[in-house]
Amino acid sequence: SLSERREGRDMDFSGKVAVVTGGANGIGRAVALGFARRGAKVVVVDRDAEAGAAVAAEIGKGSAIFRAADVTRSADVQAYVQAALDAFGAIDCFHNNAGIEGRVAPTAEYDEATFDAVMGVNVKGVFLGLRHVLPAMIRQGRGAVVNTASIAGLVGTAGMPAYVASKHAVIGLTKVAAGEVGPLGIRVNAVCPGPIATRMVQDIARQVSPNNPESVEERYTASIPLRRYGTPEEVANVVLFLCSDLASDITGAQYVVDGGRTAA
Ligand code: NAD
Repeated sequence: SLSERREGRDMDFSGKVAVVTGGANGIGRAVALGFARRGAKVVVVDRDAEAGAAVAAEIGKGSAIFRAADVTRSADVQAYVQAALDAFGAIDCFHNNAGIEGRVAPTAEYDEATFDAVMGVNVKGVFLGLRHVLPAMIRQGRGAVVNTASIAGLVGTAGMPAYVASKHAVIGLTKVAAGEVGPLGIRVNAVCPGPIATRMVQDIARQVSPNNPESVEERYTASIPLRRYGTPEEVANVVLFLCSDLASDITGAQYVVDGGRTAA
């Protein structure tokens, strides 16, 4: 039908270049594959070289490259930005997504080294991505960024002080950048997933209940109106939408993908 054809064009990323950090696994992997399926050239960035190279290989030579990088290191970030420009000539879409969960422990017991590590990846890593990708988008006069925050960027969760603080900070960085680069034709939004079926929620469940992680999933899903974890692809759908022309009036926003968890 006409409307189906129009929809196809709206979410078509042919001729566009997308950079995805944390693109080796989970949500970032689903976003990288989603961009590729809709025609984009993709730069997969991750510190997990084996899985990252596998995602680029799955997309195919000529359509994707993998760059090993630790997003907390400025030199690594500059190198992946340069690699994207050298390989494909622009950065149209940037999914600033790499993140870690840290330990589950109350604030009164939380260890300082883990706090620093979580803030390092989730806040400094997201800042450095903006710091080095935005200049390229400003030169182009176009671009769309989606930072991965979390519902932990909107509400607190006992036992996750560093993660919750880091994700609130991601929303702050999103709002500041949106105000700065909106007048230049660049949009910056945040996606806030609830529990999504990836390694990360499995690790959190194991930390909460080493002997019975399944009980944690049962308890979590009982608190979600849709009664299940989301999938990486369901988060990817929203990230792709926010990067597409369908979202042309949306910037500085937070999109919740949580099966209703924070609403009810
Ligand atoms: P994941 O662990 O499957 O994927 C995270 C990826 O980031 C991995 O490939 C990992 O190697 C990479 N990474 C971590 N630290 C890095 C670093 N310093 N440099 C480069 N790469 C690094 O987990 P996921 O669930 O796909 O998480 C993706 C994002 O989604 C994270 O920001 C996470 O906080 C967020 N998130 C996840 C959930 C969930 O329930 N899974 C919910 C809300 C938000």
